[in-house]
Amino acid sequence: MASGASTVCRALILLGPPGAGKGTQAKAIVQRFGLPHLSTGDMLREHLAAGTELGKLAQPIMARGELVSDEIILGMVEERISRVDCAAGFIFDGFPRTLGQAERLEEVLKRRGAGEPMVLYFAVDYDALTRRLSGRRTCQTCGAIYNVHDRPPKTDGRCDVDGGELMTRPDDREEVIRERLAAYDRQTKPLVEYYRSRGALREVDGMAAPGDVTRKVLAVLGERD
Ligand code: AMP
Repeated sequence: MASGASTVCRALILLGPPGAGKGTQAKAIVQRFGLPHLSTGDMLREHLAAGTELGKLAQPIMARGELVSDEIILGMVEERISRVDCAAGFIFDGFPRTLGQAERLEEVLKRRGAGEPMVLYFAVDYDALTRRLSGRRTCQTCGAIYNVHDRPPKTDGRCDVDGGELMTRPDDREEVIRERLAAYDRQTKPLVEYYRSRGALREVDGMAAPGDVTRKVLAVLGERD
């Protein structure tokens, strides 16, 4: 990853169920490699906040914990990776989430002359996910992620980094979490075999402490901590 990133455009895909730690690890990888972090969930939340047409379409679907259509997601992703900061590579978090998205991504990467994507799969225990997701709090200002059970901020409700207000995502309520996990099982889990059969999958134990997961991730990407 370290040497390849400067010569060939590399796509790194973070794959795993909601709450597996993809967003947290993406931030650590970005710090190390300086590649843009492309979270389709974050992009959609920006559209929601800005009240765009796309945001209005996506809002009820996201509130139910279902997946937004491939057409909307692919349009958004293709526009984003055509920008200049993506020339050397990018880190996908929460994309692709369906076989249709993965197949389309393959075509797009081929067209760009990009190398094969590398896929980091975060294996986690499903029972732990609900606890993780319901305890998740995100800084409204800088996006830092906490967990009230396992990684609480120093001051209740405030970010350690910049004092920003910590928010609970509306789709981190228990009934929506159940639907998001069901959508993952139905539509996203088949991607594990899809990428494994292509020899692109690297599995990481997502149940370890975040710092230990980061060390493993960096080792897999060919870096020492
Ligand atoms: P996330 O922040 O990745 O958990 O995404 C939040 C929500 O945005 C998901 O529950 C979906 O409704 C939607 N979403 C994000 N990424 C995708 C994607 N690649 N395909 C379809 N829907 C997505």
